[in-house]
Amino acid sequence: MRFTKVKNQGMILLFILFSFCGCKEKWDVLSESDRVILKRTLAHWETWVPAKKEEGSAPLMTFEELYQGLHSEEQDFLNRVRAIEPVKIEETKKIHFQKITGQTYEKNGKRETLGPQYLPQPVYRAYQRMMQAMQRDLGKNLLIESGYRAPAFQLYTFLYYLPHHAFSIVETRRWVALPGLSEHGNPQKQALDFINQAGVNGDDHAEDFEELEEYKWLQAHAHEFGFELSYPRATKGTTFEPWHWRYGDLRSIR
Ligand SMILES: [Zn+2]
Repeated sequence: MRFTKVKNQGMILLFILFSFCGCKEKWDVLSESDRVILKRTLAHWETWVPAKKEEGSAPLMTFEELYQGLHSEEQDFLNRVRAIEPVKIEETKKIHFQKITGQTYEKNGKRETLGPQYLPQPVYRAYQRMMQAMQRDLGKNLLIESGYRAPAFQLYTFLYYLPHHAFSIVETRRWVALPGLSEHGNPQKQALDFINQAGVNGDDHAEDFEELEEYKWLQAHAHEFGFELSYPRATKGTTFEPWHWRYGDLRSIR
């Protein structure tokens, strides 16, 4: 396919460039011409991504969809962003996802509904079992604010936020993972972000989530259901994310 060919050429070119100039400098702030390309790309996506988000299928987006209708210059730009880090997680096609809809919470007296989320079915079942236990112990449970996010959706999200961080790749990476690196795109070790029934998700202050009794319960019991905290406090190089838990290796689940 055309896009694969362009991708391979881009990879080869990058490899040659890095081998010969010996430059180890990181690509950070976009050049003026790349900014123009990015703006054009985002404008193109504006024609269909919002509808996909509205309909709730955006987290399952594929690279094929994302590249559709883009010119080679724009496709090449996407390939360069994808080449920043070696990809650890490929796109998945054979996983059966459970669509989760109708999750609501109440914040400041207002009822809010979360958009549809997706989890590999075994992970969803483990989550349900865990929530039944939490409900029994605490009389409350946690909702999934974000589950599976396809690598293509991750790339879209990363580029969407790039202008919000002064077009700095380094800065944006502090907040959004590059595709192929996020645990949200890894069904084998699926990550999920929790939000409680009062809308606390730790977004503004991680401590808000850390202080919840739901979080304390997770710390004591999540492992019984196959979940673990991905980014604990005081781990070098990562930010503490008390809401972000991942499921154990699916291949080991009977
Ligand atoms: Zn997360």
